[in-house]
Amino acid sequence: MTTRSLAAIEAEALVCPKCRLAGTRTQVVFGVGDPAADLLFIGEAPGFHEDRQGEPFVGAAGQLLTRMLLDIGLRRDEVYITNIVKCRPPGNRDPQPDEIDACTPWLVEQISAIQPKVVVTLGNFATKFLLQTAHGITSMRGSVYPWHGRKVIPTFHPAAILHGGGEKSRQFADLQADFQLVAATLRAEAAGPPEAGPTDLAPTDLGPTDPQQMGLF
Ligand code: URA
Repeated sequence: MTTRSLAAIEAEALVCPKCRLAGTRTQVVFGVGDPAADLLFIGEAPGFHEDRQGEPFVGAAGQLLTRMLLDIGLRRDEVYITNIVKCRPPGNRDPQPDEIDACTPWLVEQISAIQPKVVVTLGNFATKFLLQTAHGITSMRGSVYPWHGRKVIPTFHPAAILHGGGEKSRQFADLQADFQLVAATLRAEAAGPPEAGPTDLAPTDLGPTDPQQMGLF
């Protein structure tokens, strides 16, 4: 697959007609940040505020993500932030399998263009989808998983942390530990040659979704 620039991919994605969410969205929420970032964050799908503003993670969960980034010395414009699904599902329902299948070619192209060294999956949905696992985030977090020559680090979705009480929640210390793991992994990537460099993703590497296996739906 030839790699297009992120700007070229975005221009096409912004008018995407490929699923029913095109009929209900305010706008496509493609992604934001450094087009050559070493660190990529992947969430689930845009919510109300993201749909209005055209930028991922700008609501309360986004503010927590921004804060966690600052804790490890990174600004939002030094990383790249996107979602599995680029358009808001009505009423914030879960994205449906055919919507995910229609949308993931954009994510494959984004990863091919950005070439991140480390990918953080935010929450159950993105983690199960990317790592094709039925295991939940509580058992997956806290570890680094090899993935197409890159490193994937799953952590809690910031919205789940907020829902559970924010800084007072049981999981907040785990979230902090996961961001320290991200920082350490980035440092290690910068210091040493990778065992095997990143390999290109094929469109089929992200699907079609198998809801049964993933335990998502
Ligand atoms: N939750 C997500 O998964 N993505 C966003 O962009 C906002 C909230």
